Amino acid sequence: MIDVTAAAPRHVLQTVFGFDDFRPHQEAIIRRVVSGQNALVVMPTGGGKSLCYQLPALVREGTGIVVSPLIALMKDQVEALRQLGIRAAYLNSSLTRAERQDVKRQLRAGAIDLLYVAPERAMMASFQRALGQIDPALFAIDEAHCISEWGHDFRPEYLQLAELRRRFPQVPCIAVTATADAPTRQAILERLDLGEDDLFVTGFDRPNIRYTVRPKRKARPQFWRFVQSEHPQGAGIVYCLSRKRVEQTADWLTRKGREAVPYHAGLSDAARQEHQDRFLREDDLIVVATVAFGMGIDKPDVRFVAHLDVPKSLEAYYQETGRAGRDGRPADAWMVYRLSDIVRMRKILQGDSDTRDEHEWTQHHKLNALFGYCETTDCRRRVLLNYFGERMEGARCGNCDNCLDPVDTWDGTVAAQKVLSCVYRTGQRFGAGHVTDVLLGRDTKKIRRFGHNEVSTYGIGADRSKKAWRSVIRQLVAKGLLHVDVTGYGALQLTEACRPVLQGDQDVQLREDPEPVAATQTKKAQREDFSDAPADQALFEALRTRRTELARKQDVPPYVIFHDATLRAMVEHRPDSLDAFRQLSGVGDVKLDRYGAAFLEVIQAHEA
Ligand code: ADP
Ligand code: ZN
Repeated sequence: MIDVTAAAPRHVLQTVFGFDDFRPHQEAIIRRVVSGQNALVVMPTGGGKSLCYQLPALVREGTGIVVSPLIALMKDQVEALRQLGIRAAYLNSSLTRAERQDVKRQLRAGAIDLLYVAPERAMMASFQRALGQIDPALFAIDEAHCISEWGHDFRPEYLQLAELRRRFPQVPCIAVTATADAPTRQAILERLDLGEDDLFVTGFDRPNIRYTVRPKRKARPQFWRFVQSEHPQGAGIVYCLSRKRVEQTADWLTRKGREAVPYHAGLSDAARQEHQDRFLREDDLIVVATVAFGMGIDKPDVRFVAHLDVPKSLEAYYQETGRAGRDGRPADAWMVYRLSDIVRMRKILQGDSDTRDEHEWTQHHKLNALFGYCETTDCRRRVLLNYFGERMEGARCGNCDNCLDPVDTWDGTVAAQKVLSCVYRTGQRFGAGHVTDVLLGRDTKKIRRFGHNEVSTYGIGADRSKKAWRSVIRQLVAKGLLHVDVTGYGALQLTEACRPVLQGDQDVQLREDPEPVAATQTKKAQREDFSDAPADQALFEALRTRRTELARKQDVPPYVIFHDATLRAMVEHRPDSLDAFRQLSGVGDVKLDRYGAAFLEVIQAHEA
């Protein structure tokens, strides 16, 4: 047990958490809450929200009460705190009655620094009585957007938390969330009776995530090249649209020698639970999943999120890719897509909504924004942030594919005219495949049947490859010059916007699709990472192995012992004494005592 009461926040930061300095905004928020005022913190995933309530709970007298809807996470969250020597506990339906009684007894005895509770339990009469007998240090409302009907994850039980505020007006309240647009923020402030002054909004940006989007050719080999070159180890999530693709992709990866497990709604609860547990507890596992996977996953060291099929909107994309790199270390968001995927998704979304109304229009609009993002030659981070109403400083982020490998563009006016005329001449009733065949002047049954070898555009595109025409068509759709009719077989149709192009009054700039050789390979060195020197790699491996041994013994996830960032710091600094070891980021007093010697031993063995 540690005695930190009345200690300065910075002292606690260094001795308990083992961090040198606060992240942007943390200090101001922490000081505010320590002084008894409130805060609503809107900060992206991985920004360091938890510290904003954990640290004040230690500095202030009494127990910090953390309300969270994510019951499945509580055990690991509490374990991570206990590893730091913090007296943490949780109360939820997964405990037996006796266990719950025990926690409440400790609560009354003042033996708990931080207590995690589910919202419905926080409102139970028995819990409220217990609260009445103690002095809560603060209330922290995690996932605070759940209180708003405007948010995407409204939970009625969250509305009752307003009552908690009325009963304990003197207890500071800190609400935190990663996703809250303006109406949602307003709703949180009102419901929790917070003021405008309490609001802290930091940007949405996740600078450590590198965004890459490639035209899909053969998704699996493309993905394989990517993981082999960028992530030969480490955990990742791969999203596919259907259960079947999920199963096949997981099998394929495992056969290739990279262990992967499937996750989708068709698996039994037990299988899903098992795969999720393995993901949390193993260092190098890949989960291949439908969107069913991810909510309530709190693994900090997910190194990549790959989309082999497109998500349904940029919001979904940002949320899914946001699961990468919560620890702030370099991570990848990697996606491949093709026109037919967008068309397929459009069909699915139309099928979803029974009424063809505003909702459908919104979905359509959102999918177009995603498509625009895929096709952009601009900085991807800029496009993303723009979409969420935020401006990026500077024109280029330097950490997306378009910034790292600026896209070549070419004058595609004539090519566009050829496609548009060909669509027109064949009656606007055929999809991209057939139109391409006509352009190429191929001899197919379909072409003969419809007499398309007679039209004036037959064979006018023989100067380019099939792949090149596919790329042109895809980009014309993205630019709104062609429309895909998804009510039938995906026929291409002209839009009003293509008139000036056909008349020669408007040029069309197209992007050169990158070649499949991983362009990212050359850029690897730019990541501020330790060198690829074999000795460094070997030491990192040995440290991971030691971490896994220690984690297994206690049946906890490895990252609660030390994050990868701390292991990397060990490789970089090669501490040779406990004193040197305690300088590493992520090493506080308790972890130094518990694990310092065990890791120093590994480092020394490597120096020898
Ligand atoms: P969030 O809840 O906002 O998603 P977390 O609180 O989980 O983010 O923090 C993300 C990561 O950043 C964690 O690995 C955490 O240990 C680390 N972290 C937080 N604050 C600091 C800091 N001041 N210095 C170094 N690392 C930090
Ligand atoms: Zn960029």
